[in-house]
Amino acid sequence: MEELSTDILVIGSGLAGLLSALKAERAGLRVLLVGKFAIGMGTNTSLANGVFTAANSRFSEEAHLRATLESGRGLNQVNLVKVFIEKAPDAIKELRDYGVPLLGRDTGFTVDRPKGSSQLPGVLLIRPLIERLRDSSIKLLPGLVIFDLVIEEGEVRGAFGFFRDGKPCLIQSRAVILSAGGAGAIYRRNDNQRSILGDGYALALRAGLSLFDLEFVQFSPFVLGEPRLSSFLLYPPYPKDFRLFNEKGEDLLEKLNPRGDSSRAILTQWDRLSVVLYDACQDGDVFFDLTQVPEGAWEDYPLNFLKKSKFPFRDRPFLVSPAAHFFMGGVELDEKAATSLPGLFAAGEVAWGIHGANRLGGNALAECAVFGAIGGQSAAEYARQKERTQGPFRPFSENVIKKWDRKVRSYLRKRRGTFDQPRDILKELKNLAWRCTGPVREEGSLKEGLDRLASIRRRIEEVYPATLGDLFKRRDLENGALLLKAILEGSLLRRESRGTFFRKDFPDQDDQNWLKNTCYHIEKGELRITHTEKTQISKSLSAPGLQRVAK
Ligand SMILES: Cc1cc2nc3c(=O)[nH]c(=O)nc-3n(C[C@H](O)[C@H](O)[C@H](O)COP(=O)(O)OP(=O)(O)OC[C@H]3O[C@@H](n4cnc5c(N)ncnc54)[C@H](O)[C@@H]3O)c2cc1C
Repeated sequence: MEELSTDILVIGSGLAGLLSALKAERAGLRVLLVGKFAIGMGTNTSLANGVFTAANSRFSEEAHLRATLESGRGLNQVNLVKVFIEKAPDAIKELRDYGVPLLGRDTGFTVDRPKGSSQLPGVLLIRPLIERLRDSSIKLLPGLVIFDLVIEEGEVRGAFGFFRDGKPCLIQSRAVILSAGGAGAIYRRNDNQRSILGDGYALALRAGLSLFDLEFVQFSPFVLGEPRLSSFLLYPPYPKDFRLFNEKGEDLLEKLNPRGDSSRAILTQWDRLSVVLYDACQDGDVFFDLTQVPEGAWEDYPLNFLKKSKFPFRDRPFLVSPAAHFFMGGVELDEKAATSLPGLFAAGEVAWGIHGANRLGGNALAECAVFGAIGGQSAAEYARQKERTQGPFRPFSENVIKKWDRKVRSYLRKRRGTFDQPRDILKELKNLAWRCTGPVREEGSLKEGLDRLASIRRRIEEVYPATLGDLFKRRDLENGALLLKAILEGSLLRRESRGTFFRKDFPDQDDQNWLKNTCYHIEKGELRITHTEKTQISKSLSAPGLQRVAK
């Protein structure tokens, strides 16, 4: 087993991870940055549309605060939102200092694209940060998949994982920053990178942390549904001449806003449209039609991005469907990005608190920028403090090494054997997630989902890791199944509709009974769910440090 040591370990190399790593290194610490694939790539950040919401000369902090809380429908963590709003303009400045090209826009900033460029804004955003990494002392470990956090004597001491070539790796670290992103790819229909399967949530749950509000998933209405093409988001803005219709030729945009500017209506009613389209897709295909768009419009982003494809987007209508986009729930943090596990910090989509029941567009990248920097700074302070009190690094004891050697053997042990390919089980899991916990949910299908998931979980137990690929697929399956169980159970218990969460059988928001956050944690190996009233949470967070609020 390869053994490594560092002051700060950063898990995940999207925007949150990159910024945490750069910040901690600037504080003079040894930093190790890992990602499932190439650093910066295979991340949702690299797919992003490059929109940051933050106060500027045209958009006040008060307006940003109001819009964020309105979107969150009473479920945001107000203390975190305030820090976020206040620090967002400085975080944007810091990004510019790193060389990220950002232009001011009405409610914030956007990645500046050279005229006519069809590069995705996310790639333009990540590239200068990767250049910075090259000039830094940060050690990069691409292709290392973290399987577990290492916890000794009540604090995090590092992490364990496997390289893609199957070599196990134990990393000792004074502090760890979890920035492993969200989980959109557990859904059959999603616009995320394939590897974004909720590992961060699973790592945190298994480490005994409480997660909140996992039932709140944001869906995007227009994701490419053509069978042989990858399912990417059709990026806004949408040209005014596009059409959306079903198999019968009925105009679906009529239902949304028959008169106004349809592109604007889509952005303001993004979630309603996802629900309408999800229902429409149950009855047949839905088509997006760009054939009436004038020739000149194809020279500009985002249409010039589509134009590069071999698929004849200009010549014929094509299939679209809504798809999972973003997770509002996640790991509980305080204003310093510290979790309730000493030494563990979190930032980015894996974290909970800013968005409440729905995320305001542009707040995800801004959150990564703000809490990535805070996480890096806080972890550096924590590691320095450890050094002062505990002195130089002591390697892991023999006992700890033996424990992880046993764990490696258990991961590689051949199971009883099954004829199921892990790939097929993952497909079933994703189908189930889409059918039962998509944009429209109801008691009957949620219960059915739990039954079917129980049988899928038994089959995962028996996956025979015949190849190296199966070792990773099995972990993907375990993580995905844990998360889906949480979403199914949490959705069954929330009997109302709020933000992105829509229960067909309880279509109204119910503040009387449901102004609550859902808390998920593992107790004696079982997933437990409790609820915390908003007043309880505010009180507990005003105490010094973050207390566990779940009862
Ligand atoms: C198509 C699309 C467009 C978007 N556009 C915008 C936008 O314009 N504005 C906006 O605000 N938001 C946007 N979002 C949302 C936003 O892009 C994401 O929320 C944000 O980029 C997440 O960043 P992150 O650093 O938290 O995670 P990611 O960028 O997803 O990175 C996660 C990292 O964790 C690593 N990882 C995961 N599990 C493990 C493991 N077990 N071991 C090791 N590494 C691991 C991954 O390999 C990856 O490096 C968009 C999202 C999508 C999908």
